[in-house]
Formats: sequence, structure tokens, C-alpha cells
Amino acid sequence: MTLRPLIAICGTTGVGKSNIAVELALRLGQGGFRHGWRGAKIINADSMQVYEGLDVITNKMPKEERKDVEHLLMDFKKPGEQYVVGQWVQDATKLINEIHENGEVPIVVGGTSYWIQHLVFSDRLIGSPPNEKVLTPPKQPHKSLDEMQELVAQVTEPELLQLFEFLPESPPSAGTDPDAAFKMHNLLNALDPVMAARWHWRDTRKVLRSLEIIKETGRKGSDIVAEQASRSAVSEPKFRTLFFWLYAEPSVLEKRLYERVDKMIELGLLDEIRTLQRIASEVSPDSSPSAHNSEVDYSLGIYQAIGYKEFHDFLSGTETSQGDFSRAVDRMKLSTRQYAKRQISWIRNKLIPIVNSVNQQRTQTPLYLLDATELGSEWMTNVQEPAIKIMEDFLDDRDLPEPKSLSERARNLLSVREKAVEPTAVLEARRKVICPICTTEENRPVMIEQGPEWEIHQGTRSHKRLAAKAERERRTNDTIS
Ligand SMILES: [Zn+2]
Repeated sequence: MTLRPLIAICGTTGVGKSNIAVELALRLGQGGFRHGWRGAKIINADSMQVYEGLDVITNKMPKEERKDVEHLLMDFKKPGEQYVVGQWVQDATKLINEIHENGEVPIVVGGTSYWIQHLVFSDRLIGSPPNEKVLTPPKQPHKSLDEMQELVAQVTEPELLQLFEFLPESPPSAGTDPDAAFKMHNLLNALDPVMAARWHWRDTRKVLRSLEIIKETGRKGSDIVAEQASRSAVSEPKFRTLFFWLYAEPSVLEKRLYERVDKMIELGLLDEIRTLQRIASEVSPDSSPSAHNSEVDYSLGIYQAIGYKEFHDFLSGTETSQGDFSRAVDRMKLSTRQYAKRQISWIRNKLIPIVNSVNQQRTQTPLYLLDATELGSEWMTNVQEPAIKIMEDFLDDRDLPEPKSLSERARNLLSVREKAVEPTAVLEARRKVICPICTTEENRPVMIEQGPEWEIHQGTRSHKRLAAKAERERRTNDTIS
């Protein structure tokens, strides 16, 4: 079955995601494409905009700017009601199917990137981040004694066999007892070379843990990881997805965000916060335990919207001066800026590595950064025009431009260090190799991670100094002989 298209627009707050979504929807409404899709509906992926009313604090796009494009999963939850990622994914998936059945293209837009990520990619992939947890397996069934013996037979040195028999209770310190540390690494290398290449011999805690796993399960950690990987392989994406990341230079965006806070206050932000405070106090646990929804948690849901906490004391009458008001405004501006920063780092550190990993394996999921730093005519040439062109080519199955070729900012920001997501790739990616130049004592090898760290290492002053020394010695030896 061919996958049906989905357009996903992510980016920070205040960058213009909703505007571009409406423009794309309007363009699709004109029809006349080879692909045959006609029209579009927008699905909200902003965890605050799901709440009813409260248009100012949630930064909802004014109705007139929506230009009659239907916005779904917006404005339907009561304050205090919880709505979490799993529910949203379920609701969004159902709507997407309906939109497709209708011959239209779903456009998912919002700043809650992890919602979009869970919608587009399998949960298993997202649920196994590249960290040590992956390498610490759950309880594994014991292998037969024979198999255990077969594994141990790889250890030929009696000294190492003895060590395996009596593993230390706690890891030796590589600093004070380097011999013990290196011996333990040698033992792991004999039993499970793949795992041994993953840890530096100085990382005795992890080396010991890997050995304990072998002892407890009779199996190699690297085998266990490989097995887990085959089970949690990246599943086929559910849709043919085109990602747009709207990005504005933080220094420029910051000014826009500050202005927006001032504007929100003009538009009645404080009234909305008072309303929220009232709702919270009406059903607070001390007023009536039988209140209509005692499970409502007023630190969650809409109560996490930026502004609520910042203005709480000012509006509760504990702080009332003009100075208190200005400080609340400043706090809100700071929180908004920090939120935008977190949104960018999520996209760079979580979303993009997953997109890259999926693209390496199968179905192409293109992700384009659109430079929304400048408004006005630059917005047209940097954001709107390329977005429409790429969308049309994507839907028509034509060749797409290389994402990094779009702009200088795209080239810089999309060139994140390749990060392995899939567990066996994590093992491979972090292999340590011995630097022959810097290793002066055989039992204290200098181990460096392959890839960028190795590159960096070769450029370090100490490595270059030793390399030059080795070169001089080689020449001297040549002359002598
Ligand atoms: Zn070196």
C-alpha cells in the first residue's frame, strides 16, 4: 500500500507556523494538481491550544487569519482537563484518516514537537533513546551450561579466567589501580569484543557491568543489544511525511516574542489568567471534596501556559505595585524565551536524529528548514514560496532539493552531528580505538572514540607533539641503519 501524505510544520512559538500552514492549505484548495489531492485541513499540535477559549494566553491564531481553513483538535478541552500525547496521537490519527478519505491533505502544525514525533514515527523507536539503558538488558533467560562454557572457553589466559570466576564487588579505580582496570577490560575483550570496543578501559563501572551480564545470563551484551534492535526496528512510517521546520534567528525572534507579550497584555491576558484562577479556586480541594472533578490538577494542562505562573502572585493580591507588574512581565518574557530555546533544542536533538535515522534505512521523510528570520518580502522568498514549491513537488512525487541547499541557516542547523538512534548502531558508533601514537605503555592504552572525536584527537597539541617526536625518531633510526 502506498502511504498517504502528511505535512508537518514545527518550530518555536511566534515564528509563523500557523501562517504558513494556512497558506499551504489555501494553495491545496485551488486544486489542479497531478497528484489529485484537493484541499487541506489543519490539525493543531500545540498542547495549550487544545483548550477552549483563552485565546490570548494560548496564542491562538485569530479567526480571521485562519481564512476559513478548518482547524481541528483546537479549542475543545476544559481548563484543568488533562490531554496527553497518547490521546492526541489517537485523535489525530483518526482525523488524518478521515481527511485522506475525503481526498484532502492533513497539515499538522504546532510547537509541541514530541506530539508530532509520536504521531509520525513508531513509539518503539522514540522509546529507546540512545543511552545506557539500552545496553542494560532486562532479565534474560539463562543459556544452557554448555553455551556458557563455550563462551568462557574463549578466555585462554588462566589469570583472566580466575578474574571471571571472582569478579570484584565494585569496579576498581582506573586512577589508582590501572592494572586491575585494564585486566578487566582484557577479560571483556576476550568474551565480548564488540562490547569491549564500546567502553574505554578506564570506564570500569561499565566494563564490570558488561561482565556481570555475561555471568548472570551466559550471554554477550552485544548479542542482547542486537536482539533488542531487531525487535524494536524502525517500523514503517505511518504516513509519507514532509517536515517543515520554521526557524528564526533567536536574537531576532526574541524581540518579536517580547513584543508579543506586551500585545497579549493589551488584548486581555490578565483577564484570562483571573478566569483560570477563579476556576481553580472554585474546585480547589479545600472548598469541596465532591466538586465536579476532584481529579483535576491545577498545575497541569492549561495551567502550564506561560503567563499563568508568572502573573499569579500579582493577580492574587500579594504583589500589587507597578514594580511588581513590570517584574511579572519580565518573568513572562524570560519564560517565553526559554521555552523557544527548549523547542529548538528538541528539534535538533530529538526530532532530526530520528528523521536522519529513518532516512538512512527506508522511506524518505524529507525535512526542510525554512528561514523565517526576516518578515515582509523576505518571508515570501524564504518561507512561503519554497514551502509551496516543495509541497507541490512532494505531492507530485518529483525530485526534491537537498535540504541543506535551501539557505545558509539550513546548512548550518541541519548539519547536526549524526547521532545513532538504533541500538546496534549506537554500539558501533561509539567504538573506541587505541591511538598508537599516544599510547606509551602497553597496559595503559589511550582509547578514543571513532568518528569526530578521533578527528579532534588527531588535531590536539599533545597528539601532534608525540607524532612529531615519533617521526623524528623514525628518521634518526633510518639514518643510523
Ligand atoms: Zn593520539
